[in-house]
Amino acid sequence: MHLNPYGADAVKLAADLANQRPATAGELADRCRALGLVLERPVAPRDLDQTLALLDEWEKIVDAAAGPERAERVDRLLAAAVAYPRLTDHAGSGWHLHYRDDLQPLGAVLSALIPVGTALHLAGRGMHRLGRCAVRECTTIFADTTRLGRQRYCSHRCANRDAVRRHRARTTSTP
Ligand SMILES: [Zn+2]
Ligand SMILES: [Zn+2]
Repeated sequence: MHLNPYGADAVKLAADLANQRPATAGELADRCRALGLVLERPVAPRDLDQTLALLDEWEKIVDAAAGPERAERVDRLLAAAVAYPRLTDHAGSGWHLHYRDDLQPLGAVLSALIPVGTALHLAGRGMHRLGRCAVRECTTIFADTTRLGRQRYCSHRCANRDAVRRHRARTTSTP
């Protein structure tokens, strides 16, 4: 995974992992690979623990108001994990920026990739473009990369479910 200018892949990886927490180190490795991350080292239980702790902090960014409070939470994660940026060509797929030292275990990779991706996404597209589905019992996290930036639901399914519900509420309250 290369950090694109707006961090979409990294922030979507974070949402995917937070929405359905990986149960084992092997599952974490598989899901990161499936979303395009190049794994340089074997993944150990320690990486899973570190990632789950990171996701707890990351969810606080999701639930923070889209202003200074959200920025401060992102900054705290950036300060904890990110080294100076450097150019790398480790995967032989083109030069790109890393915000960490080379050959780090996956837990350390994610603890830099996820805050940087989130910061790029929020700064590039808008501080409000991270949230939870508006269907109360759903709460699935989404990173809003739509053109207009007014996403309220995690999926079409939830949008439809809510539309049906609002329609019913209207028709039953009519005498
Ligand atoms: Zn890389
Ligand atoms: Zn939903």
